[in-house]
Amino acid sequence: MSDILKPCPFCGSAHITDRYVRDGKQIFCPNCGASARSAFHGPDCDTLERAAANWNTRAAPPAYEPMLAALEVLVDAAYYVSEHGKQRHHDALVKARAAAYVAIRKATGQAVQS
Ligand SMILES: [Zn+2]
Repeated sequence: MSDILKPCPFCGSAHITDRYVRDGKQIFCPNCGASARSAFHGPDCDTLERAAANWNTRAAPPAYEPMLAALEVLVDAAYYVSEHGKQRHHDALVKARAAAYVAIRKATGQAVQS
């Protein structure tokens, strides 16, 4: 089963399995608990295949690490500007703001305007 399932989009675990839910099947990650939409029994015997397709097409979460790194730089730059108010620190804040903007747009799948 797990050879046709993609790794977990949340924790990266490759140990993905299925379980019965009401009158259908659901694919889930035992490591972090993430699950995909259930597939219910119908006239065809493809419930497990449909459940697997739901898992394999589940959207990955946005990558938050680049956003957090950019925000950390931005906060640091803002701190220095407020403490010293010097032009070079202001320039660093402007650069950090631009980097944070790009990182957030990329991480959320939005186009980056040039
Ligand atoms: Zn997981």
